[in-house]
Amino acid sequence: MPDVDILIVGAGPAGCVAAAWAKRAAPELDVVVLERDRAVGTPVRCAEGVGDAGLREFANPEGAPWVARKISRVIFIAPNDSEVRVAERDVGWILDRTRFDAFLAAEAGGLGAAVLVGTEAAGMTPGPHGRWDVRVRSARGETTYRAKVVIGADGVEAMVGRWAGLETRVPARDMESCAQYVVRGIDFDPDAIYLQFGHDIAPGGYAWVFPKGVGIANVGLGLVALKSDGRNAREYLDAWLARRYPRGACAGYTVGGVIVHTTVTQTYTDGVLVAGDAAHMINPLSGGGIVNAMKAGRLAGCTAAAAIRAGDTSARRLAAYHHAWMELLGLDHLKYYRIKRALEDLDDEFFNALARTVNAIPQERRTLGRIFTHALVKHPQLIPVAARFFM
Ligand SMILES: Cc1cc2nc3c(=O)[nH]c(=O)nc-3n(C[C@H](O)[C@H](O)[C@H](O)COP(=O)(O)OP(=O)(O)OC[C@H]3O[C@@H](n4cnc5c(N)ncnc54)[C@H](O)[C@@H]3O)c2cc1C
Repeated sequence: MPDVDILIVGAGPAGCVAAAWAKRAAPELDVVVLERDRAVGTPVRCAEGVGDAGLREFANPEGAPWVARKISRVIFIAPNDSEVRVAERDVGWILDRTRFDAFLAAEAGGLGAAVLVGTEAAGMTPGPHGRWDVRVRSARGETTYRAKVVIGADGVEAMVGRWAGLETRVPARDMESCAQYVVRGIDFDPDAIYLQFGHDIAPGGYAWVFPKGVGIANVGLGLVALKSDGRNAREYLDAWLARRYPRGACAGYTVGGVIVHTTVTQTYTDGVLVAGDAAHMINPLSGGGIVNAMKAGRLAGCTAAAAIRAGDTSARRLAAYHHAWMELLGLDHLKYYRIKRALEDLDDEFFNALARTVNAIPQERRTLGRIFTHALVKHPQLIPVAARFFM
């Protein structure tokens, strides 16, 4: 039975960054990452967009081979197709996740963590002396790892938290179903991301165009199934594409779930931490989770390493992770979630009117603060939404 200090389930951004930071914090520890897919970073189930500042906390994107495109504009599209440009600066990047996740895994490997691909955690039970016995399957057969700390970084379909008895269920209204194509041969501003709202387009979510190059983009949408008219995400996407880009050639297709909820109430128990999508650490307004997963991974890796060094991996000690996360982003997510719920009550006509209001502000003066103030003055329906931010 392999005996390790930290066993991480999942080699996405949360798991790879957790491994790297655990090794940085305590190089003497044995850190093993399990990844059930046969290669880290594939298949890609993501639109691959990240903000500039968050990404730079972990890696320098300038000239990096894992970057597809730099983004300097955000264009919102109202339900009636009117466009609103809201940013003209370096706002973010579109990654090549296949390469980016592999880069993160290589970084963890370079620091001494073992990343085992094609290797799946199949269950876990408490072992002796506060350790966990994790059943692991691979082409080589089945084995059991004994670990002092298990980090569940196993994404949206996470099981580690459940195996450890944590409450990780997602209310149906907070689970978005997404569909996405890589589309070639379409005309759009390659330096901008586009986001379109509308009940008939993506009920409860939005549609996006995230450029990967000139004429090629990730084009997708996320919706809440409870609000749909019976069609699934792909059917909504096909309808949107047919209307917006009838000549686009679809080169690749993916589906996936995004949890637009708040952080699970408890992200730790004796010898276990959960991080990233597995702990619902996605921004519930935007659905973005890559940078959040890395931030949570960094906290989880450091907390686990310090706990092992101190010889105390109890829930009491590991609770520090939860508090640090809530302080860092978890409490903000609670506010964003309340805004998301309040926005759900507003209809398409409201968003069309809001677009007209914002477009009346000269583009060079269109800062988020000004947009917000104008919007509140012209659309009193927004006051309860804004109030929810503080409540
Ligand atoms: C369609 C779509 C578009 C998105 N677009 C964006 C975007 O533009 N920007 C953004 O920031 N976020 C986006 N997201 C969300 C983003 O992809 C996730 O928040 C992010 O990948 C979370 O990282 P993670 O490490 O927590 O989980 P993941 O990246 O999901 O990694 C989890 C890993 O665990 C592995 N695993 C699971 N179970 C086991 C097991 N039992 N044993 C071993 N391995 C296991 C999986 O194979 C996977 O590799 C999108 C999501 C979807 C579905």
